[in-house]
Amino acid sequence: MLKGIAASAGVACAKAYKLEQPVVVIEKRTDITPADEVAKLDAALAKTVKDIEGVKARAAKRLSEEELAVFDAHLMMANDPELTGQMKNMINNDNVNAEYAAEQVANMMIAMFESMDNDYFRERAADIKDVTFRLKCNLLGLVIPDLSSIDEPAIIVAHDLTPSDTAQLNEFVKGFVTEIGGKTSHSAIMANSLEIPAVVGTAGVMEAIANGDLVGMDAIEGEVFVNPDEETVAVLAKKEADYKEEKAALKVLINAKSVSVDGHEVELAGNIGNAKDAEQVVANGGEGVGLFRTEFLYMDNDHFPTEEEQFEVYKQVLQTLEGRKVVVRTLDIGGDKKLSYFEFPEEMNPFLGYRAIRLCLDRTDIFKTQLRALCRASVYGKLCIMFPMIATVNEFRNAKALFEECKAELIAEGVEVSDDIQVGMMVEIPAAAVLADEFSKYADFFSIGTNDLIQYSMAADRMSQKVSYLYQPYNPAILRLINMTIKGAHKNGKWVGMCGAMAGEPYAVPILLGLGLDEFSMSATQILKARKVVNSLSYEEMQTLAENCMNMDTAEEVLDYVKKETSK
Ligand code: PEP
Ligand code: MG
Repeated sequence: MLKGIAASAGVACAKAYKLEQPVVVIEKRTDITPADEVAKLDAALAKTVKDIEGVKARAAKRLSEEELAVFDAHLMMANDPELTGQMKNMINNDNVNAEYAAEQVANMMIAMFESMDNDYFRERAADIKDVTFRLKCNLLGLVIPDLSSIDEPAIIVAHDLTPSDTAQLNEFVKGFVTEIGGKTSHSAIMANSLEIPAVVGTAGVMEAIANGDLVGMDAIEGEVFVNPDEETVAVLAKKEADYKEEKAALKVLINAKSVSVDGHEVELAGNIGNAKDAEQVVANGGEGVGLFRTEFLYMDNDHFPTEEEQFEVYKQVLQTLEGRKVVVRTLDIGGDKKLSYFEFPEEMNPFLGYRAIRLCLDRTDIFKTQLRALCRASVYGKLCIMFPMIATVNEFRNAKALFEECKAELIAEGVEVSDDIQVGMMVEIPAAAVLADEFSKYADFFSIGTNDLIQYSMAADRMSQKVSYLYQPYNPAILRLINMTIKGAHKNGKWVGMCGAMAGEPYAVPILLGLGLDEFSMSATQILKARKVVNSLSYEEMQTLAENCMNMDTAEEVLDYVKKETSK
């Protein structure tokens, strides 16, 4: 049995599908017959086109037309006579093997496009890389794993999964186990919204599991069993059935209020990454969207999404929520979230560098496109806009001024904009939590991003396995920062939500309720469980409990105390 981090609840048992990218090694050869090499290249090109068409057809079941456009660009390249002509010329003129010619021409084209001073052309470099990698694999007879082609029950075992790998998972994927990653890594977040069990940060899993091994995973405890015996399989099957039964029982709370036994009402909302997730929030009884991570709109694209493209998505989400509140976070890119079509500066510490609101205030062209799209969509529902990674009052004021500018421009153009848009900010940086009473003079609301707030407060990288023991939501220092944020907001009559992973943790909910948190935003699948917890608690008692927690020494003490108190 291997121990990892339970990142998305569930239990599953299936054969392992090991995700391993082929290693391409190319040698230059001159003992060749050019005509044979050209024929080999043509055959590999034809296969490359067929492969891309196949991936596109399979992905079409889950992706939109827009998301599929990237495959058309790849097909165009594989069929581009300029690219393939150069490879053939090199084979004939330099008398070299097809693989070598393909690599040389590809590297040349990639370098040329990468050096261009134009986003559009730089994007093409990433596409050429992608297509020529496939071509080289075909020339060498190497197979690129295609996750969307999985057609029998499987548990994916990988070093890591990117958000786009995760987007390719189909109904045959019963769960995934990764070697690295933490609870708040983006693959974990994606697994939650797809309702796929996931265990991440499972050290040694790639070595311990072979393709086709039977894998049992308990993603409630974070346990992975390699070739489990019959008894373990039976225990897991029972646990899976119980888990599904409990989930069904929670469904009765879909239309219930989120209110404590002594009448204190809060709001339980959902975190989303796209328009589809919004439907899940409504289906799971969410009272709103507390965080729309719009960076996925940018990451799943091969160009900066235009105002029109963004407008359509925001409109759709607002309409899906039918008048319930929707908090849209403006572009939070940088750190681990990169774009294929945008070059970030080299930095020693990208998590402490040029990212999120810092980038948006510098590149106001990118920022204003998003703000305009949001303003235009605002008439379709109840829109709240929030800025990520705010560290200073001036950053907030400058961002808000740009919002006002966009709004005024649109109104001058004769476009209708809602006059009821709330503009707030994330509290992810300790400086913002400490100064919350000042920020709340300007911001309409706060949403506490504990994933980053904990990382920055404890100086512990949220992706690092080695220091994951420092990711301590229950540490009294974190609780005090949360308390300062809530009290600071309430002083000026503003509301406070939380959209970090802590908001959905069953033992954190009692403390947060007691601290006076107004809105809890989590993955859609956690909402009903949280409602069951809120509905069973006394607000007055939780206020005392929270006060006691803040006066403890350690996270362990806090957690033990909450477990004891809430099981009474
Ligand atoms: C957070 O930091 O808690 C948060 C919700 O944002 P993200 O996880 O996208 O960084
Ligand atoms: Mg964050």
